Amino acid sequence: MAQHPAAMAADWLVSAWDQNAGLRTVTPAHSAVGDLAGAWLLDLLGLPGESAVGFTTGATMANFTALAAPRDDVLRRAGWDVARHGLGGGPAVRVVVGAERHDTVDVALRYLGLGAPDVVAVDHQGRVRPDALEESLAEAGPGPAVVVLQAGNIHSGASDPFEETVETAHRHGAWVHVDGAFGLWAAASPAYRHLMRGHEGADSWATDAHKTLNVPYDSGLCVVRDAAALQAAMGVQGAYLLRDEVCQPLDKVPELSRRGRAVPVWAVVRCLGRDGVAELVERLCRHATSLADALRTMPGVTVLNDVVFTQVCATFGSDERTDEVVGRLLADGTTWMTGSTWHGQRVLRISVSNWSTTDEDVERSVEAVRRVATEIA
Ligand SMILES: *Cc1c(COP(=O)(O)O)cnc(C)c1O
Repeated sequence: MAQHPAAMAADWLVSAWDQNAGLRTVTPAHSAVGDLAGAWLLDLLGLPGESAVGFTTGATMANFTALAAPRDDVLRRAGWDVARHGLGGGPAVRVVVGAERHDTVDVALRYLGLGAPDVVAVDHQGRVRPDALEESLAEAGPGPAVVVLQAGNIHSGASDPFEETVETAHRHGAWVHVDGAFGLWAAASPAYRHLMRGHEGADSWATDAHKTLNVPYDSGLCVVRDAAALQAAMGVQGAYLLRDEVCQPLDKVPELSRRGRAVPVWAVVRCLGRDGVAELVERLCRHATSLADALRTMPGVTVLNDVVFTQVCATFGSDERTDEVVGRLLADGTTWMTGSTWHGQRVLRISVSNWSTTDEDVERSVEAVRRVATEIA
């Protein structure tokens, strides 16, 4: 089974109930479940308890939603009302990202009309270099600015050094957003939480429920510390809407009508509990470590990244050989690992994210890699 059974069953119920979960007064039970799941998630992920949590379709939309808040907020602080005047003619919003941010951050910025970001250098694991961030922000001088950091590089699994980078960004008056589609879940594990040190100091975060938490597609989470800033960007006013003063589900994400996306998230967290979520994260990491250890024993294979979380990138001697291995592995069908390019080299990229993967599956995957690597030797 691809998804966690509790999440899948809850998702079926959501379809069967077919409630429009945008307003508290209309679907109070859905809202209560969303509030509870949101509170649990903030606690699990080590995020500030006062934050607003929005249930989006994925991390791309969570990035978009969370970044709409600072777009409006940093411009408001610069005396520009973007809701009224639009972006044209207003002060420029500077967005700074690391060279290895996920492509969907650029997509979100494009949707928001913010254009292409300024890119700062990263280290050998793809982490933003604090000195490069400092230099970039100092050079630009004061003005509306947003810094987008990352928890979980898709090639190395590494996370940005949040303590230093958040402090630097805030000292320069920037809003800090963290794209943590899968990496943010390190915070749910006592064994991996150190990777996130300082992440709670940011202003907004995006993550997925359909990756690490194994909720059926499509399910992402957007978290914004300043709930009013999110509501200002996403809120809907309409005389026909049965709404009161409190922040409604429809004030936190782009959709007005929407399915009860919080229910499967609630179900899987309720089922696993704090320890179960930690155990899930740790199991994925353990599998990644086992895969990397086995790859390192194969002749001609180099694991390129420091395997700190759930990602492994390996080369097989040359780009041609690596591509040949990837092609044969996909044709073989035992395991699903795909090719990518990292630091100028073709790599076999492994991302462990399924709750049901067992030690035996890992062994079979290793054997499949060994088989195809031997075939081409
Ligand atoms: C997967 C991923 C995204 C995009 O998430 P979707 O849920 O596919 O929209 C964004 N950032 C990172 C780091 C990712 O791994």
